[in-house]
Amino acid sequence: MDTIDERLAVIQPIDTDWYQSKVAAIDMLRLDLLHPVISGNKWFKLRLNIRHAIDRGFKSLVTFGGGYSNHLVATACAGKMFGITTIGIVRGRYDILTPTLMQCQNAGMKLIFVTKEEYDRKEDADWIREMASQFDELFIIPEGGANEWGRRGAGLIDRFVNASYSLVAVAVGTGTTLIGLRNSLDVRQQLVGYVPMKQGLYLKEHIFTHLHTDKKESWQLFDEWHFGGFGKWNTELLTFMNEFYKINNIPLDIVYTAKMMYGVRQQVLAGYFAADARILCIHSGGLQGNVSVQGKLLY
Ligand SMILES: *Cc1c(COP(=O)(O)O)cnc(C)c1O
Repeated sequence: MDTIDERLAVIQPIDTDWYQSKVAAIDMLRLDLLHPVISGNKWFKLRLNIRHAIDRGFKSLVTFGGGYSNHLVATACAGKMFGITTIGIVRGRYDILTPTLMQCQNAGMKLIFVTKEEYDRKEDADWIREMASQFDELFIIPEGGANEWGRRGAGLIDRFVNASYSLVAVAVGTGTTLIGLRNSLDVRQQLVGYVPMKQGLYLKEHIFTHLHTDKKESWQLFDEWHFGGFGKWNTELLTFMNEFYKINNIPLDIVYTAKMMYGVRQQVLAGYFAADARILCIHSGGLQGNVSVQGKLLY
């Protein structure tokens, strides 16, 4: 049933000048190339959820997100691709739909707008069923695809990570992708996660809880490259993205992967990683979110 061709995800070397040859190699796994919308880690977090829902005869998927959520729009598109109804519970009310929400709607997703206070009940299954009461046989996918199927699906990204890499870098939102990867990769491969929000280190506890007993170590989380908070940016970050694009011909997204690569570069240039480190950075997609800075990027 998988109609996304995972062979599209190539590994691309980063120009050695960009990191002044301070480590042995930096490569990027281009999961952003999988699909224009169901891209990156979102596809992996969704694939087992959707397969399970279909196998068990569920007729509709309900999930959650804000007005710019990559997860929400990926679910909408995947639902359309697999012929399953999707319902999106949206945080906040929008008189004018954001481009992301418009794309959700165009893919056939039914949008239900709730206040921020109501949205806080997103883990209350009774409330969810009440909100989507006109839909039957609902399968609930939590915000960000953060459930067991999401974690296991994200773990499948390990198939692209060969043993020559000593370090794998990943952007962190809910931590689902990092958890899945830590549980599937060999502990000899260090995992580093970059949180694009202020005070994001609280996620450590959640991540730790979901790691298998033999995989509790060999990972780190950094939150210093948040640029003012989740979704926030400045001209320095834009300049960085444009430079990165000019040198490597890879578009980064402003919410997650740009902040991750900024952090990676700072650490590499400061000699934080061993000189013989071979680093694989995961491009987790999210490029649709760049519509918010349209015209400011070279791509
Ligand atoms: C959603 C998203 C993430 C965060 O993934 P989690 O599994 O929630 O940690 C990282 N990068 C991009 C581009 C995303 O869209």
